[in-house]
Amino acid sequence: MSVHVIDEANRCLQCTNPRCRENGCPIHTNIPKMIRLFKENRMMEAAEMLFENNPLSMICSLVCNHGNQCEGNCVRGIKGEPVHISSIENYISDSCFERLDLKPAPSNGMKAAVIGAGPAGITIAIILALKGYSITVFETHDKIGGILRYGIPEFRLPKSILDRYYKKMRELGIKFRPNFSIGGSTGIKDLLNDGYKSVFIGTGAWRPRKLGVPGETFGNVFYAINYLNNPDVYELGDKVAIIGAGNAAMDVARTAIRHGSKDVVVYVRGDEVSASPEEFEYAKVDGVKFEYRKSIVRIEDDGPVFKDDENVEKLVPADSVIIAISQVPQDRIVTREKDLKLNEKGNLATDSNGETSLPGVFASGDVVTGAKTVVAAVAVSKQIAEDMDRYMKSKKD
Ligand SMILES: Cc1cc2nc3c(=O)[nH]c(=O)nc-3n(C[C@H](O)[C@H](O)[C@H](O)COP(=O)(O)OP(=O)(O)OC[C@H]3O[C@@H](n4cnc5c(N)ncnc54)[C@H](O)[C@@H]3O)c2cc1C
Repeated sequence: MSVHVIDEANRCLQCTNPRCRENGCPIHTNIPKMIRLFKENRMMEAAEMLFENNPLSMICSLVCNHGNQCEGNCVRGIKGEPVHISSIENYISDSCFERLDLKPAPSNGMKAAVIGAGPAGITIAIILALKGYSITVFETHDKIGGILRYGIPEFRLPKSILDRYYKKMRELGIKFRPNFSIGGSTGIKDLLNDGYKSVFIGTGAWRPRKLGVPGETFGNVFYAINYLNNPDVYELGDKVAIIGAGNAAMDVARTAIRHGSKDVVVYVRGDEVSASPEEFEYAKVDGVKFEYRKSIVRIEDDGPVFKDDENVEKLVPADSVIIAISQVPQDRIVTREKDLKLNEKGNLATDSNGETSLPGVFASGDVVTGAKTVVAAVAVSKQIAEDMDRYMKSKKD
């Protein structure tokens, strides 16, 4: 093991005002308690507490931006290395997951529908199933996970973890309808007419943001979210130009290198990348190169054309160009359900209880906030599950 979690746990100072939890963690994981229980050989108790607070604890321990969150706020980090909190959380959540003894409340006879099996939908489904609701999850893809499975690469988040979640959810009695999109032949009103007391929309942000330059439709141009969906089917060639410098761009670059591309360059518009420092460092270690102050003008069959500070245009030869400048939520459900109101950014509009403009229809995650993070989707969804519970109880016949 690269990090010795027992040594790391012994380094925790058990601060009375734990900044890791209060300032650092968006879902306020009780980190000092987790470490205390771990050191007292009460790991199952720690795992249960973690799951209850964040059902996606195992996943967040791998993909959160810990350097800016828990570990970035650890007092130990002021004069040295912070405690490697994420490794401790991962050790506990991973090794205890199958043994978690989840006890759903007896059935309350009410059904709820969850549209989308990403972090938001998984969180809602688990919490409501534990409260005694009968849950059916509708998912466009063949498997659960959303961007966790079809965006974040295997080397950062093994897909086997999502298969374990699927098993756990089935054990809770959650039903799945894979390969099925709501908003086509079946709409939200069909669900409500069929007796679902409430509907949750967690459909994420999957429509690639376009650059708006000529050439984006050419055969040598791809969008990050499409490429990461299934990199095996792309033949990118040796030279790959990536436009955009966030975490998705780093995932694309590192995936392209692992698939054999030899010259992978990220073109950054300004002077800095927007990816987290950790992802940036790993990309450099993997051999990704970076070019700064590159403003794209158009894409040609031979590669992108950039304009420099003197307004001089230059073609950079590349076999493939991948555009990685984020995604927007304009899914069919957002565009076709005319009664669902959007906010000024084109995301689903919700009130403070997470309810959309359709009564009984709730939403959270990227479809509401635009592209954000896993922990943000889970933290809000936890709250919305409570709001849905209150709503459904108030409507009980
Ligand atoms: C490449 C990439 C890397 C990222 N890396 C990180 C990271 O390291 N750490 C981090 O915290 N965040 C990361 N993020 C962001 C994070 O993954 C998202 O914020 C998070 O997944 C949002 O969760 P969600 O449940 O709202 O949506 P999603 O994960 O997008 O899930 C939505 C689900 O809804 C399904 N769906 C959509 N429309 C329908 C429909 N009409 N009917 C049925 N199902 C439907 C989709 O197929 C999908 O499964 C990354 C994002 C990208 C693109």
